[in-house]
Amino acid sequence: MSKLKIALQKSGRLSENSLNLLRECGLKFPNGNSKLIASATNFPLEILFLRDDDIPHYVEQQIADIGIIGENILLETPKQINTVKRLGFSTCRLSLAIPKDQELNDIQELNGKRIATSYPTILQNFFHEKGLNNSIEVLSGSVEIAPSIGLADAIFDIVSSGSTLRSNGLKEVFKVMDSEAILVSNPRLQDSKMVLLNKLLFRIDAVNNAKKFHYILLNAPNDQLETITNLLPGINSPSILPLAKPNWSSLHSVIPEDDLWDTIDTLKEAGAEGLLILPIDKMIR
Ligand code: ATP
Ligand code: MG
Repeated sequence: MSKLKIALQKSGRLSENSLNLLRECGLKFPNGNSKLIASATNFPLEILFLRDDDIPHYVEQQIADIGIIGENILLETPKQINTVKRLGFSTCRLSLAIPKDQELNDIQELNGKRIATSYPTILQNFFHEKGLNNSIEVLSGSVEIAPSIGLADAIFDIVSSGSTLRSNGLKEVFKVMDSEAILVSNPRLQDSKMVLLNKLLFRIDAVNNAKKFHYILLNAPNDQLETITNLLPGINSPSILPLAKPNWSSLHSVIPEDDLWDTIDTLKEAGAEGLLILPIDKMIR
């Protein structure tokens, strides 16, 4: 049977999260990625470890069937590949930054300035959209030092916490795009590989849905059950079991991670007691 081949970043900001996602999907493979190819022992999957910039090309050429990359990589070097799923990790933004002692009130003030970046295509498209004309200095790394050594007036780079900018005397002035890890695929997969990809996607959804919810158990007086059920509709509707204590019940449901604490406050006000909140490992709707 043919194996599905997935390309992952060998080492960097995507590697660990990508491998963790596969592990959470129940895939077992040898630890450590000192080798460039590894095979899962319990799923027909082969992992190729590559530089992230090369992954779109490998997927386009069908050396790999699918791959995990940052969205920014695909925008920088567009290829004939499909984005199959947004994965929600390795989130960052691509922003313009200037020396911190300077002011920028309008993006138009950057017109004619020299900007250093490793992402010239994204930046060029942005300038084109804004009607700006700039010279772009393309650097493959250490972009943050360009203004202090006189190579550029500003930079365009990946920002996550902003600490790298600050430690290089820069400040973020304009966000051009957000980015997160995406699963990409070759658009012409054979049927047997599509079956494997769909199996993997099913598992990814189960893992990612589980992260958005917690399992909740609570006790409540029967006359409050309707109010509480409205607060916790669950996937379909909550389970309610009678307690040994007369006129009391135990209610089991799921609670969204997003407004967890506000909902807990409201549940307590409605008379809920003995609340237990547990993590969910996998969730299949
Ligand atoms: P490679 O050696 O594979 O070419 P790289 O140095 O080009 O690696 P990384 O810095 O590991 O790339 O970043 C890989 C991807 O992770 C980026 O394209 C981006 O999508 C995302 N990323 C980069 N920096 C951060 C960050 N600080 N926080 C979160 N995600 C980030
Ligand atoms: Mg790279």
